[in-house]
Amino acid sequence: MKEDAKMNRESVELKFVVDTMLGDLARWLRILGYDTKYSRSYEDWQLLRIAENENRVLLTRDRGLYWRARRKGLQAVLVTSDDIAGRLYEVSKKYPIRLYVDFTLTRCSICNTPLIKVNKEEVKDNVPRPVYEKYHDFWICPRCGKVYWRGSHWIKIEEILSQVRGMINEWKRARTSKRVKL
Ligand SMILES: [Zn+2]
Repeated sequence: MKEDAKMNRESVELKFVVDTMLGDLARWLRILGYDTKYSRSYEDWQLLRIAENENRVLLTRDRGLYWRARRKGLQAVLVTSDDIAGRLYEVSKKYPIRLYVDFTLTRCSICNTPLIKVNKEEVKDNVPRPVYEKYHDFWICPRCGKVYWRGSHWIKIEEILSQVRGMINEWKRARTSKRVKL
């Protein structure tokens, strides 16, 4: 029963549109596999229009814009944290996103295109030699050509995601204990 509920929730995949001040959040959501629109040139009216027309959750640091979205009945999250862990936590509290990387879902952090797994030989000329020798799994963005692998930077990504999972678990525990007391 629990599993069914989980699957239902995940079957409607969330999509986001992110304001110009939250570029790092947009990149992380793409890595986590969410279709996320972001451009430094988006004006407020464009963000609202995209959220409305494409049924995307608006993520913004702008309180005024957040309330404009809410008054229009749009889905939105006001993101106030200054660091990425805090920002992911704020989104997760309202929309339970995956807090782990599944490369079959990952999108290019630069252009939002789903990645394709490639044979190692195909990226031979696109990555530094030591990287090519050390790693075996590579993915490529079919649109902009950026190559991805789980390099040393990956440890930091896993650490941050683990931190956010911890924050969410703590938050859920606090909510449950509050309910029990009532
Ligand atoms: Zn790309």
